[in-house]
Amino acid sequence: MRVAVVGAGASGLAATKCCLDEGLEPTCFEQSQDIGGLWRYTENIEARRPSLYPSLVSNTSKEMSAFSDFPFPEHFPVFMPHALLLDYLRRYAERFSLREHIRFGTTVVSIRKHPDFATTGQWNVVTEEEGKQTSHVFDAVMVCSGSFSEPSLPLQCFPGIERFRGQYFHSRQYKRPDVFQGKRVLMVGMGNSGVDIAVEASRVAAKVTISTTRGAWLLSRVFEHGYPWDMILNTRLMSLIKTNLPGPLSWWLINYKANQWFNHENYGIQPENSWLVREPLLNDDLPSYILTGRITIRPGVKEFKDNSVLFHNCPEEEPVDIVVFCTGYAISFPFLEESVVRVENKHASLYKYVFPTHLQKPTLAVLGLIKPLGCILPVSEMQARWVSRVFKGLCQLPPQSVMEKEINEKKKNQIQWFGLTFDEILKTEWLVYLDTLASFIGAKPSVLGLLFTDPWLALTIFFGPCSPYQYRLGGPGRWEGARQAILTQWDRVLKPTRTRVPAGSSSSFPSLLAVVGFLLLLAAVIFGFQ
Ligand code: NAP
Repeated sequence: MRVAVVGAGASGLAATKCCLDEGLEPTCFEQSQDIGGLWRYTENIEARRPSLYPSLVSNTSKEMSAFSDFPFPEHFPVFMPHALLLDYLRRYAERFSLREHIRFGTTVVSIRKHPDFATTGQWNVVTEEEGKQTSHVFDAVMVCSGSFSEPSLPLQCFPGIERFRGQYFHSRQYKRPDVFQGKRVLMVGMGNSGVDIAVEASRVAAKVTISTTRGAWLLSRVFEHGYPWDMILNTRLMSLIKTNLPGPLSWWLINYKANQWFNHENYGIQPENSWLVREPLLNDDLPSYILTGRITIRPGVKEFKDNSVLFHNCPEEEPVDIVVFCTGYAISFPFLEESVVRVENKHASLYKYVFPTHLQKPTLAVLGLIKPLGCILPVSEMQARWVSRVFKGLCQLPPQSVMEKEINEKKKNQIQWFGLTFDEILKTEWLVYLDTLASFIGAKPSVLGLLFTDPWLALTIFFGPCSPYQYRLGGPGRWEGARQAILTQWDRVLKPTRTRVPAGSSSSFPSLLAVVGFLLLLAAVIFGFQ
């Protein structure tokens, strides 16, 4: 079975590898001359490609960001600069011999149903290389083109911007803070880009303001006891607590946890709807920069004037020289017909964020079009594992009506849990989503089963971080190294920081043992709820 993979970023590499694992024949088309997608930094901003700023560091830790059968090298720092993430992707491509399946410098121009689609499920794929177009026929397609190439710049939402005489640009244009030297700068939008750029700007600018309509929870990468935030929060125990506690109690817990570092209300960034699960911001500097007056937080923009800005509920105008619109990204698939994947209000109606529901044959899938509250790499890898088995006919999709019903219900729940503004539509619980897809392919670990055969592993899986290796313990694509990778995950976290006193392998054990008893008790109470 021949599969076209569009894009050789992290998702495209995982897709190519998973096709090979299942004995499919992938051809990956990459418009640029190299792998890495988002994670390949270029000094020049290239059309139709993502653009990073040089100082960008990953928001998720290496143990929670790994592909499930390929841990990061132990000497890599816990949160990685973009160059190391690219290094990791290069190692992955090398280890699984992926490059020979990639056609570089080849843009996918169009993907259309083959005339026999109803019976064969095939696709006509037209590619362009050095100005020359070629037509191919593929049995299936995985779209891995990413969602950070097209900036969303909703200028119509900002009255008066046309008369503003200062400079303005989208955060995608940002590379270094020198442009802000001595200027009064305004960041519009308090996503991770807005906060990162504000922190950098405030070291050289005369004044930095962040305008936020909704506020957000801010977490530090350095979480409780100095451990990485996602290894503490993304555990099976935490997920069980969140999904089983009654709503108000669960919201109180989120509030309580988020306010432990500092009181969000006092710092002006309290989320407008504190019960909504908005993507948390990850930044270690913002609270101290607010405390030291380097950064000021303001409400949403009401209007721009010639050389200043007016905020909602603030009578005074604030003089501004440069505005950076940190307003996120739009999603588009220029090579697909609207009838195949329609994007509405930044949302594509896809079953499990992957499959269009109305095709006679499930031979087209979109990967990585999701914003889980955790790292996207293991998620798109899991999607690829599932998709390649659907393509092969080893996993079936439910009937169209069932898929559509689920999508519609999901949309309703989204409003309740995540809200439906701007960028919220693709949000989902990381662990729950991974578990769901893993159960489709028979790779979800059974904690209860393991409790009898391998109790230490079972406890580590339940109380410890839900690192992606858990999904390689059994089922198709089982990896021999998975158990060892799970049991040594904390060693790889400590290795790059314990550089003065050598790391002992038992380093995390005493504390783990101490908490296990307490957590067991807690779990017993929670199971009692059910
Ligand atoms: P984003 O998370 O989509 O945030 C965009 C923000 O712009 C919104 O949250 C909103 O902020 C504001 N906004 C959007 N539309 C608006 C409108 N019509 N009117 C007023 N305000 C509007 O975008 P991003 O910060 O560029 O991040 C994109 C993705 O990259 C995210 O998943 C992020 O986590 C990721 N990222 C990661 C890193 C890292 O790993 N270090 C760094 C940067 C970005 P308010 O609600 O505050 O008004």
